Amino acid sequence: MLVRQGFQYALRLKPQREAVLRRWVGCRRFVFNEALAHQRAEVTLGRKRPGYAALCARLPELKRLHPWLCEPPAQALQQALKDLCKAWDAKYTSHFGAPRFKKKGECDTLRLPQDCQYDAAAGLVHLPKLGAVRLRHSRTAQGVLKNLTLRQERGCWVASLQTEREVEVLASVASAVVGLDFGVATTIMPSNETLAPIELPARIGRYERRMKRLQQAVSRKKRGSANRKKAVARLNVCHGRIAAMRRDFLHQCTTDLVRSHSLIAIEDLAVKSMTASAAGTAKSPGRNVKAKAGLNRTILRNGWSMARSMLEYKAAWSGVMLVAVPPAYTSQACSACGHTAAENRKAQAVFECVTCGHSENADRNAAKNILAKAQLMLGSADELLSGGRPASTPGHCGELTPVEAPLVRRKRPRSAAQGGLVEPPLAGTNSGLSLLGNLHP
Ligand SMILES: [Zn+2]
Repeated sequence: MLVRQGFQYALRLKPQREAVLRRWVGCRRFVFNEALAHQRAEVTLGRKRPGYAALCARLPELKRLHPWLCEPPAQALQQALKDLCKAWDAKYTSHFGAPRFKKKGECDTLRLPQDCQYDAAAGLVHLPKLGAVRLRHSRTAQGVLKNLTLRQERGCWVASLQTEREVEVLASVASAVVGLDFGVATTIMPSNETLAPIELPARIGRYERRMKRLQQAVSRKKRGSANRKKAVARLNVCHGRIAAMRRDFLHQCTTDLVRSHSLIAIEDLAVKSMTASAAGTAKSPGRNVKAKAGLNRTILRNGWSMARSMLEYKAAWSGVMLVAVPPAYTSQACSACGHTAAENRKAQAVFECVTCGHSENADRNAAKNILAKAQLMLGSADELLSGGRPASTPGHCGELTPVEAPLVRRKRPRSAAQGGLVEPPLAGTNSGLSLLGNLHP
């Protein structure tokens, strides 16, 4: 399997060389804006909008008019034109509008597709026209370097190395299966009772309180003032810390989950529509806007989408099967007898079946239902392939990753006491994760 992966490193640069990079991204921005203005002018005159080749052909003339454009590598300027053409394509294929003029500090990046070399032994990259640049070499990038992107992130220059390599996908050696319920109070709840609920680290909360103070500090400063700029910079650093902590944490727990399971079942949640604003319009304002905004913030804070995309690629690389099941009724159905009713949820955190009396943490119950749904879907998909009759209707299928893995399949479990759903516990997984309260959305 051919895999493209990004490896990111902070650069160790002297101030003079940082100034060079700032000039380079400035040149790139100038070329982008100039080309966009040219395209708009041509369209106004009733002519066809110039494409990539026509824009590239104008570069020598631009350089003659503005000799400082010769400083950055020419490929970086061509990539700016390529990005502009891509942005026009995106206008017709996505929800993005037409490309806009960029101002300083907006998308200040620089992509170099050629002539960059990565020296893993010395922890260096060799860039055209700049020479060797030392990296904060926290890990070794694997594969062949395909392109390198420079960007400024919270006052620090970062190089993103995109590499390509062949990864041999082996069948997962683990035999355990798990269902995951993405929740609000509990970030991720595994169906396996021996696995602790997965919570975001508490220090993120501390930084969030600090961010609130910094936001207030920004709003107190006069618009356009130097002090406001400084306050915004401090706020951005805090934002970045929180994002990095969340990313790091989700990487750790998704890696743990993928390493110790051969089947992972998740809910096929539409995070985007779930976190839509309740504000409505001026004519018909929505209700409970503030409460919904708070819920949206909590959902986004838990990083469900990020966790899912990490699980997706990690599962594909390591031969683990990831199944996304339709989320309907996973929180209302009883994992022991299958009885589905809204009355089963007496409280947000507790599930209590009105038919069989089965009582359990509501998120854990939902996670078990997710796993059962996935196993049912896989079982019927298997029977269809082998020409057999499909099992009792499992609803519509979610997506299956096309990876072979050893599977333990069960039909709907009769009782949790029989050990119905989950495989034997796996020692050492997700230890050190704390148990807090639960609240299913
Ligand atoms: Zn029940």
